[in-house]
Amino acid sequence: MLGIRTVIPLSGCNVTQRRQIELGLAETVLLAAHARDHILRWSNESEIYRKYFGNSPSMEDIGAYEVVVSGDKNGILFRSDNPDGNCDIDGWAGHWRGENDTEQTVICDLSYQARRSLATMCAIGYTVSEFGTNTFWASDLLHRLYHLPSIDQEWVNHHADGYGEVLNLANQHPMLSTHDLATLQYFALEQVARRLIVILTLEVSFIATEAVNFDAMTGESRQASRSTQDVWTFQVTHSHFLSSLLRLTAFEMFGITILSIQPMYQCL
Ligand SMILES: [Zn+2]
Repeated sequence: MLGIRTVIPLSGCNVTQRRQIELGLAETVLLAAHARDHILRWSNESEIYRKYFGNSPSMEDIGAYEVVVSGDKNGILFRSDNPDGNCDIDGWAGHWRGENDTEQTVICDLSYQARRSLATMCAIGYTVSEFGTNTFWASDLLHRLYHLPSIDQEWVNHHADGYGEVLNLANQHPMLSTHDLATLQYFALEQVARRLIVILTLEVSFIATEAVNFDAMTGESRQASRSTQDVWTFQVTHSHFLSSLLRLTAFEMFGITILSIQPMYQCL
């Protein structure tokens, strides 16, 4: 879109720091996009939506995710140097610069050691309910973005701390949950955890004349040709998931029906 910069500017980073932050930010956008897409598809009526946002309307949370995906990032800066000295404090992995510069975030050395890629979701003992939201680059950077006024217009805030309080907030104060920082993190993480690997069962009954190749969709090589009739089961990883469904819509004309979509495992 004209005049919008969606890539976040970085400064003071060496090559390996830059690489980690860039991958982390790319995963942040993926995380927010998954969350947004779920709500766009199911509105405020899905079980998982009700779990985290209670009975509140979904306009506000959709916007909170969308601004991370598509909003202008021109005025903000992520930096890898240590301008305020806070990275010298034991245990600090990064910080918002606050009064020193409200649109800047510093990433400290500890982040490069501790933060994980979403690719390790459901691995190394991780569960959504028992691990901190700062386990992953994506959810940690989501937090840091929401502290920048040009991203959240000072509206997303800390109303609940930790998984238990987040679930409580959805019950007691659902209108706060849609701009609660931890709620936005947990909801998005649970999306990814549930979508990690799904089993897709398809009923394939081709009456069309064209052969269809499933390689690109599932990584499995299977080809259906004229007069095939069968039930196929695929395991589709979450990175393939959305594009698979989009492709399947196009495949309806070939006589394919989705019989079921089941999560194979999840780490809630
Ligand atoms: Zn915070």
